[in-house]
Amino acid sequence: MKIQEQIDLHGEFYQLDMEMAFANQEDVFEVMEEVLYNTFKEFSKKKIAEHPFPRIPYKEAMLKYGTDKPDLRNPLIIQDVTDIFERVDLKVFNGKIVRIISVPKGASESRTLFEGMTDFAINECKAKGLAWLKVNDDRTLQGPIAKFIGDEEREEMLRRTNTNAGDAIFFIAEHEGIVEKLAGEIRAELGKRLGLIDENIYKFCWIVDFPMYERVDNGKIEFGHNPFSMPQGGLEALETKNPLDILAYQYDIVCNGIELSSGAVRNHDPEIMIKAFEKAGYSKEVIDKKFSALFNAFQYGAPPHAGIAPGIDRMIMMLTGEESIREVVAFPMNSKAQDLLMNAPGEVTKKQLDEIHIKLDIKK
Ligand code: AMP
Repeated sequence: MKIQEQIDLHGEFYQLDMEMAFANQEDVFEVMEEVLYNTFKEFSKKKIAEHPFPRIPYKEAMLKYGTDKPDLRNPLIIQDVTDIFERVDLKVFNGKIVRIISVPKGASESRTLFEGMTDFAINECKAKGLAWLKVNDDRTLQGPIAKFIGDEEREEMLRRTNTNAGDAIFFIAEHEGIVEKLAGEIRAELGKRLGLIDENIYKFCWIVDFPMYERVDNGKIEFGHNPFSMPQGGLEALETKNPLDILAYQYDIVCNGIELSSGAVRNHDPEIMIKAFEKAGYSKEVIDKKFSALFNAFQYGAPPHAGIAPGIDRMIMMLTGEESIREVVAFPMNSKAQDLLMNAPGEVTKKQLDEIHIKLDIKK
């Protein structure tokens, strides 16, 4: 199981949770960067790349790294060449989005890499294939799809993607919604197999500008991430913009491909909250009923506030160089979220429930 999946499944006990009043996104970044930079500097001998941490808009992260949790230790990036391949008569690519990963000096890699990566794409990622090309010294191409690409398209692709003689190119052709993740998996695996990951450095980044809304499978508009984040542009954006173009003041802090935390400027304004829910098809009554405590409290006037809450367990996992969060928590859970040492979750007695004033009154 991937480290991130394992963390998400396991859950955590400890978070460094903070909410700041009269604060915006920049204020949270400033405080959090100081905490993270100094914590990682104090408790690990590894280097820390850049400070302030780079900020990457969500959309850019999905294109360049194929994920919103990019491992920036991997220097490879994904680039889009869809428009060039619209002019190339290659059946397996036609009508699809085409992304490439150029590997500097990759042309001298052995067949093991090219065949191994193709097997990985088909067997592990359920891709339809993984075309690749080597760029010869005279900039001509060799590989399974070389003969389909005309001189003009070849030069445009090489120039635009900064690909040089002696490099190799891997191609991922798929439909929207699938292509990003697939390209991200290929990028991560190439980084691993080519030994490009520096184990002695922490590379942090902020992912910013998450979309406030997204279109779900049934065509409906839904909240993208957190319904209680403040939309960028406030009420005016909600009233005038296409909901799919509205961004949220929502951010993630990511280190070496692991998400340490999400955070957001919270929506503290009841009027903006009603409008934001309306855009996702929920009436004021829904907010009143489902989120009454929050909604009522905000009627009395809440200060603007923003926050973030990185998991301490996952920070310790990274600081100690462990690959699993189970190694750093006192009572690790198994894959069914059971704590076998404490035998939890377990049955409780009526006496125990009475002590904490919980009444079981489940209607059949
Ligand atoms: P084919 O015409 O099926 O032999 O495919 C030609 C080349 O394109 C092979 O190297 C395949 O692995 C590769 N290929 C097929 N489908 C895709 C795809 N969706 N994305 C990237 N490469 C592909």
